[in-house]
Amino acid sequence: MSLQQLADLIFPDVTKTPADYIEAYPNRNLPEGAKVTRYAPSPTGFQHIGGVFAALVSERIAKQSGGVFYLRIEDTDQKREVEGAIDDTIATMHNFGMDFDEGMTGEDTSKGIYGPYKQSERAEIYKTFAKDLIVKGLAYPCFMTAEELQEMREKQISEKLTPGCYGEYAIYRNLSAEEAMEKIKAGTPYILRLKSPGNAEKRVEFTDLIKGETSFPENIQDVVIIKADGLPTYHFAHAIDDHLMHTTTVARGEEWLSSLPIHVQLFDVLGFERPEYAHIPNVMKMDGESKRKLSKRKDPESAVSYYKEEGYPKDSVVEYLLNIINSSYEEWRMENPTVDYHEFPVALDKMSKSGALFDLVKLNDVSKDVISKMPADKVYELYTAWAKEFDAEMYELVTKHEAMTREIFNIDKEGPKPRKDYGKWSEVKEKICYFYDEFFSVETAEMVELPKNVSMEDAKAIIAAYKEAYNYDTDQETWFNELKELAITLGYTADRKAYKKTPEAFKGMVSDVAGAVRTAISHRTNTPDLYTIMHIIGEEAVRARFDAFLNL
Ligand code: GLU
Repeated sequence: MSLQQLADLIFPDVTKTPADYIEAYPNRNLPEGAKVTRYAPSPTGFQHIGGVFAALVSERIAKQSGGVFYLRIEDTDQKREVEGAIDDTIATMHNFGMDFDEGMTGEDTSKGIYGPYKQSERAEIYKTFAKDLIVKGLAYPCFMTAEELQEMREKQISEKLTPGCYGEYAIYRNLSAEEAMEKIKAGTPYILRLKSPGNAEKRVEFTDLIKGETSFPENIQDVVIIKADGLPTYHFAHAIDDHLMHTTTVARGEEWLSSLPIHVQLFDVLGFERPEYAHIPNVMKMDGESKRKLSKRKDPESAVSYYKEEGYPKDSVVEYLLNIINSSYEEWRMENPTVDYHEFPVALDKMSKSGALFDLVKLNDVSKDVISKMPADKVYELYTAWAKEFDAEMYELVTKHEAMTREIFNIDKEGPKPRKDYGKWSEVKEKICYFYDEFFSVETAEMVELPKNVSMEDAKAIIAAYKEAYNYDTDQETWFNELKELAITLGYTADRKAYKKTPEAFKGMVSDVAGAVRTAISHRTNTPDLYTIMHIIGEEAVRARFDAFLNL
């Protein structure tokens, strides 16, 4: 009985050969040096920020080399599948500025000639390659039951041996084709395993584009290639897909590094040229003194949805991720403050090998910078869109007072150092709510912040006088000179030295008077330029606020 008969018995419907597929997936016609990368998630629903991080690395590597970035869905573990996850992945990546050149475009649609791009639709292809391996004696049916596997594992663990199906434990590895066929005909359940040609004494070496030179002992495990449900394992499927789809660079999470001996062996056994590998370090965070992986369970910021809810503009998140992909990004950004981030060349060999440290404080700083450089109208559009979804009260106000809100977002925008007020949209309300009478008029006396050296009584005396002296329609310089004059009349001084020498000779400094006006107008001691905010609020409201302050 030949292996061919065994293969035909296992796969009676497979009539094609690997060569047919290899021919059907022609070489890509790309410029020299162009990289083909993929994002290959399992559609499990949860979008981890680490996934966006890894996708961004892959996307940049492909795009900056004039190559192709495609989306492949790895859904061979159908228990874990979640409906809508593909659409969600595509939308998320798009939202972070990444679009796929090829691959899935929706739950059931795709583009490109290297498909299908969903592994569950490629079962025939995997079976064709598996059948060929059986014929060549490089794969075999294994009839071990779940109980037998369990027993084997326990025995190995108790003897402190590496668990798994290898060497003497791979009891069906050397079954004759005849015996195997008999078992199959009798209806004995089985799976297919690789007949590993590995030798534990030898090492396999490779260069990882991020981690550098690495070596591992060769794989000796007879890994499963086709499961009982007829679908392939990740190991087997990805090797065939990456080969047929002409992936040049497998950029993926470092959790796969330890499986690399299996993967390179599969490529070798299948007769495929090995791709380049780039194992992307995990996104880490500081937990007290120590670094640990960003955890889905413990860290809300591990979920992509967190950034949307908090209101981080996608540009800020991308900008921040580039910062942790390459530490040289910060310097590049300083030298190129207005250049599109796509111009920054990502270098894999300059990535941190031990893990990118994710830090929300730093993200917020980067984001403040990004928002400060946005034109006011863009800030208005993005903020309004966020508020519509997450802050109904603010949405109502900013749309009702649209012109004023646009002016607020425009404060100190021009010039080389625009104000850096907000890192995320959820911070905006607290910083701007006093502009709106709807908020301001209900603030109570306890909420009023007074300048350090000014009592409520003094502040009221200042406002009572200032109310009479105040001219709305003047330029900033005249306005300030008038304020200064009044301050001096009230016994305050503009002369810092004189004040320092004999503080008891004055009520205070001019700045205390300006501070009292600021308080009456905003109830706060820290606001943007006073003249500007009074002009945004408008004369009528300014005068009303003076009166209200006197009645507090
Ligand atoms: N489907 C694998 C995962 O979700 C992809 C690994 C890879 O990119 O090759 O982890």
